[in-house]
Amino acid sequence: MSTLSDCRRGFSALLAAGAICAAASPAFAAERARNVILFIGDGMGVSTLTAARIYDGQKRGVDGASNRLSFEAFPDLALVRTYSADSLVTDSAAGASALLTGHRTLNGALGVSDKIVFADCASAKGQSVPTLAEKAKKAGLAVGVVSNAAITDATPASLYAHTPSRRWQADADMPPEAVAAGCVDIARQMLDLPKSAQFDVMLGGGQANFVAEDGKRMDGRDLPAEWRKAGGAYVQTGTELAATPKTTSRLLGLFAPNNMMRESARQATGTDAPTLTEMTTKAIELLAGRKQGYFLMVEGALIDKAHHINLANDALNETVEFSKAIATAAAMTDPKDTLIIVTADHSHGLTINGGARDTSILGVLQGSDDDPPVALDGKTVPILMYATGPGAPEPGESRSTPTPANIDDPDRLTYAAIPLFSAAHTGEDVAAYARGPGAEKVRGLMDQPGLYQVMREALGL
Ligand SMILES: [Zn+2]
Repeated sequence: MSTLSDCRRGFSALLAAGAICAAASPAFAAERARNVILFIGDGMGVSTLTAARIYDGQKRGVDGASNRLSFEAFPDLALVRTYSADSLVTDSAAGASALLTGHRTLNGALGVSDKIVFADCASAKGQSVPTLAEKAKKAGLAVGVVSNAAITDATPASLYAHTPSRRWQADADMPPEAVAAGCVDIARQMLDLPKSAQFDVMLGGGQANFVAEDGKRMDGRDLPAEWRKAGGAYVQTGTELAATPKTTSRLLGLFAPNNMMRESARQATGTDAPTLTEMTTKAIELLAGRKQGYFLMVEGALIDKAHHINLANDALNETVEFSKAIATAAAMTDPKDTLIIVTADHSHGLTINGGARDTSILGVLQGSDDDPPVALDGKTVPILMYATGPGAPEPGESRSTPTPANIDDPDRLTYAAIPLFSAAHTGEDVAAYARGPGAEKVRGLMDQPGLYQVMREALGL
């Protein structure tokens, strides 16, 4: 039986439903969150977290094994099952849809029930399910979406898109029969809306999906130009983003034709694009002034993109960049009124094979300088490796292993056991970390739709 003091003390995880508290005590209001920020580390499985904290510590010259990423200091933690409606292993579309709608769907689908057929427009008619972002917008909250992938890629699209195929990012990506049957591409679903339904801040890559000239629009439209004409602000560089005044009410930023660059490449090329932290900071600055609070989703997308091509160094570096963005968000918000949840949509097959405490995680198992341990094939043993991906040797080739010359090279392929063009996602549970009102409900073994419920209840939607 719930008591008033349970409600006051925030032990709502003990309660059957938050509604009991709401009825019992106005103190429940204090457990409501004014704002919710969901951070999704795409492909950020538990082995990635462990390896990234070691990498981060070693880079900063402290002990890696006992290091913590910023959000690993959050008080509440759960393991999360990630299976989709049709697969043991979800993709980003079904995983993010489960987090954003509370419904599991088929791999490759976004914002629709599990009654659809993948990439079949007619089957998706009447199967849309509302997203938390749409509900928040309807209730008068401000909404923001930030990603360093294309903003039309699966995870950011899970906030606003309802489609049987994540691939339909621009109309050029759609089969003619899907267009004829009335399905609308993802870029148009993001911007081609009445003003009251449009998001307040949208920052990421994917510009090519919004324009015809040098882009992928067959309908000839220039969606950012239309957005600007309707009074929205539009920026395309890090410099322009930094100069955007805090009073800007509606902001669209598209900083790359497709996915944004990984941080190592952004730095190496000197490209004038914002970091994930800079985008997150600007989004919070703009949203924080809104009377009714906000819902913001920030995706660290390039963790997954690097994993897919077996670039372990960059996958870990992107995880550290993600951790920095979360640290900034935590510093800019008050845990009394802002719920922050950090999780992943799915894992990746990264393995940590061993290693002395003072050995670089990017290197190989150490014996002595003269006598490093070798495997049965006569080669050294990399500390990190993948289950699958393009890092596997070609037939007849011997496997790669890190050397002092290439250990820090962000473009070095890490060994994979099974050759695949693109590394496969893996199906083990992911972690969820939480801080703020409602965070105590993030505990034990959860499901992705359960995290949706925690956010929905926190916002009182
Ligand atoms: Zn992926």
